[in-house]
Amino acid sequence: MTEPLSFEKSRESLPGPRLPAAGLPGVDPAQVIPRARLRRNRPHLPRLSEPEVMRHFTRLAAMNYSISKNFYPLGSCTMKYNPVTNEVAASLPGFAYLHPYQPEETVQGALELMWDLERALCEIVGVDRMCLQPAAGAHGEWTGLRMIQAFHEDRGEDRSEVIVPDSAHGTNPASAALCGFKVVEVRSDAGGRVSLPDLESKLSPRTAALMLTNPNTLGLFEKEILEVADLVHSVGAKLYYDGANLNALMGICRPGDMGFDVVHLNLHKTFTTPHGGGGPGAGPVGVMKDLEQFLPRPTLERENGHFKLDFERPRSIGRVRSFYGNFGMLVRALTYILAMGADGLSQASEDAVLSANYLRTRLEGALEFPHDGPCKHEFVASARNLTAQGIHATDLAKGLLERGFYAPTIYFPLIVPEAVMVEPTETESKATLDAFTEAVLEIVQLAQTDPERLQAEPTSLPVGRLDEVAAARHPVLRWRPPAQD
Ligand SMILES: *Cc1c(COP(=O)(O)O)cnc(C)c1O
Repeated sequence: MTEPLSFEKSRESLPGPRLPAAGLPGVDPAQVIPRARLRRNRPHLPRLSEPEVMRHFTRLAAMNYSISKNFYPLGSCTMKYNPVTNEVAASLPGFAYLHPYQPEETVQGALELMWDLERALCEIVGVDRMCLQPAAGAHGEWTGLRMIQAFHEDRGEDRSEVIVPDSAHGTNPASAALCGFKVVEVRSDAGGRVSLPDLESKLSPRTAALMLTNPNTLGLFEKEILEVADLVHSVGAKLYYDGANLNALMGICRPGDMGFDVVHLNLHKTFTTPHGGGGPGAGPVGVMKDLEQFLPRPTLERENGHFKLDFERPRSIGRVRSFYGNFGMLVRALTYILAMGADGLSQASEDAVLSANYLRTRLEGALEFPHDGPCKHEFVASARNLTAQGIHATDLAKGLLERGFYAPTIYFPLIVPEAVMVEPTETESKATLDAFTEAVLEIVQLAQTDPERLQAEPTSLPVGRLDEVAAARHPVLRWRPPAQD
């Protein structure tokens, strides 16, 4: 790194930062905090002038890569642009300064917003009710599976297995395992879709659910979804929809109409709430009528135009998060939905699919395409054609970083060797897609002519090739002050 920590830059000759007086007027801290827990020494805070602080953080921000800087084709992550209108709505004082313990009568507007969002999301995915509490996609999966578990238990059925495709996102088997299920894998066929004969052989009275992503992680629509749904339901199991990426389907078709019983969404992907390091997530989960009684508590109800939180739900799996979910994300998602309108949402999905197919077509010949197109919102290519030169998907990714682009997702899904998973989203112009194509073509050319140069990239970024194994095995997560005596 080329920028030291603020602690390392600290100038001891400067006075320490002026902090407001600690505590509450008239309250003895020792009465609220155990004496042993009270700090005895002044904290060692960095001593810098205001311009130094400003420059330090501006330099750090400039090293960061974000969707505000350039294209971010990270497959399966839907890194679309997050409109500024969302931020304006979320920072309205009436939303931003609410306290989660405020009495219901004083937050009717916030509850109405949650109600409207729930109704909108139910309409978009075709389910009866939705819970807005889960804080991420994986959390939504876990919540959905707990409801399925409660449903089977309530009927006195012992169902211990969840079936997951070999192309599934890693959170699917992880969520199932965390709920105590045995994970059973179903194979993809040569076309990249769930193999029906293999599915039939895996389904049994022990099956609690099949988890499916559609379009799947290869960006392909599961055309036989109605047959899949019939097979799953015929053994009394439930069909779970991993809707983290709904970007190909909004306003075009609905998981509920395909036969899914439980659906989770990632507001931080499809519905433009900030993503990754940019903010907390939101993974609402929806259910059909027969699972409604198991929804997390409290549900939101409307009586005579008045909104109330209903805690009296004896069959509920219980609360899955403190308070009511990441409320600020709910404000942003509803803002996006209302700003776009039904036509705007379906246009966004059409454009996302068009962008992906345009890019896929332009890259044909440069990379391998193990599955036939057309694709939906994303596609998976393979860099296998470059391995004869000693070049791998990682090298392609690093070469893209060198050329100012974020790298696509690589080595996922696991069933494609040297996988390169690209998701352009609808918010990119043709010029950006063309520039990205040119960068890939240049890298593929370099792989043939000067592979060693490519293996040394990136050379112009704050960091070059990192030792990823050491970073994972021996992470240094805490700065310690130099020993003082
Ligand atoms: C992102 C993603 C998830 C997990 O979502 P998180 O919010 O990261 O927990 C699950 N499934 C698919 C297909 C995804 O792309």
